[in-house]
Amino acid sequence: MNRIEHDTLISLNPATGEEVGRLPITAPEKIPAVVATARAAQPGWAQLSLEQRADQLRPFGKALVQAADELGTLLTREMGKPLAEGIGEAKHCGSSLDKTLDEMIEALTPEPIDDENVCSTLVFDPLGVCAGITPWNFPLSMPHWTVIPALMAGNSVILKPSEKTPLVAQAYADLLMKHLPEGVLQVIHGDGTQGQALVAADVDLIAFTGSRATGAHILERAGGGLKRVILELGGKDPLIVLDDADLAAAVKFAAANSFRNAGQVCVSTERIYVQEPVLDQFQKLLCEAASQMQVGDGCDDGTEVGPMIDGGQKAHVEKQLAAAVTDGAQIAYQSDDLGGNYHPLTVLDGCHEKMDIIREETFGPIACLMQVADDAEAVTRANNTPYGLGASIFGSSERAHDIARQLTAGMVGINKGCGGASGTPWVGAKQSGYGYHSGRDGHRQFAQLRVISEMRG
Ligand code: NAD
Repeated sequence: MNRIEHDTLISLNPATGEEVGRLPITAPEKIPAVVATARAAQPGWAQLSLEQRADQLRPFGKALVQAADELGTLLTREMGKPLAEGIGEAKHCGSSLDKTLDEMIEALTPEPIDDENVCSTLVFDPLGVCAGITPWNFPLSMPHWTVIPALMAGNSVILKPSEKTPLVAQAYADLLMKHLPEGVLQVIHGDGTQGQALVAADVDLIAFTGSRATGAHILERAGGGLKRVILELGGKDPLIVLDDADLAAAVKFAAANSFRNAGQVCVSTERIYVQEPVLDQFQKLLCEAASQMQVGDGCDDGTEVGPMIDGGQKAHVEKQLAAAVTDGAQIAYQSDDLGGNYHPLTVLDGCHEKMDIIREETFGPIACLMQVADDAEAVTRANNTPYGLGASIFGSSERAHDIARQLTAGMVGINKGCGGASGTPWVGAKQSGYGYHSGRDGHRQFAQLRVISEMRG
């Protein structure tokens, strides 16, 4: 079944193929009027102090937590991830909101900087109207991390969620709109056609999360009007396993981070470089770990990995895998083929950088193993990519730190995933990002920085 029929967007359950619901598509010619509404509503919202804006948003956190079961179930039916992860995504957005708002108040409060002659103040003003364009793989948290910082900076927001997960995004926005003046947040629905029309409209900031190809297209289109952009893009994250690593911990991480969300995570482990003395043991343990994971409908008890989002995404993974096998890669383990949109969990050995599966984002449940002789080879090969989102290294701390400083990824985890402590930004280097999110400086990217100065009295 098509997702788009005439003026209607149909949301499909990736596990069953059944319709979850439908929504009207926003006609592209109506988007300028949506932007005009946002522009009219923005000054009133911007007049509130930071604390007042935060106070209006705080009850939304509690509302999200209360609605987490309902929202999480809808999320799983629409996107396919296990129910516990769907509900967890909703709960986390809600329960962390108070802390996030406090962090944003601190980031956006005017900051004095003086020298011996001049007293200056950095002020963080609203940009105006922010377009938020989001993907389907975290269909609640991606809209959330786009909309909340944009609102806190005093902007009005137009959200265009993925056409693959429109219902859960609309439910999220309906809940949030109850806490906002009319017109401050609006949602438009559709695919790339609506995305392009929004980028072309009279917006001041485009906060985009999605693929590298779409990000490049948006940057080009936004360039003519010198519109601000924040682009959070795809990845091809390496995991480096040193010969002195805690192998059990490295395998646990590799299995979880290669197969979580059926590999449909921007910071999935997509390339695994293992030093020669531990490769055989690592591979054996990884195959065992994969064989113990339960694949199935996210709504069923015990499911750890759901289906792929749709047939198109599955076909992309199948194509990369078939080409890699033709080029000499060996399948070391593959789980049962459940058909439909499910792709078997696969451990692939003997990969190399000439393969598409090692060069381009896979976004599927494939763990690709490669042997490296030493730390220097691991660094060179891990950096041999246009992507630069996350990376992980498992091994003794001193060696791993030395490698971490040589990697070109934006975020590097040592004996852990790549995410930093709370308050640190989420940042992609090279072609994985353009600007960044979260943390003090990430929040400030949703605002216009200005400097006001006078001579010392
Ligand atoms: P996508 O680029 O296909 O679509 C993302 C959004 O952009 C959707 O809402 C889509 O309708 C819209 N869109 C499509 N073409 C457009 C155009 N020409 N102009 C404007 N908007 C357009 O990505 P996707 O398949 O939805 O999401 C998966 C991708 O997102 C992966 O590459 C993944 O790595 C990336 N991602 C990155 C992060 C991060 O933090 N860096 C987080 C989540 C997902």
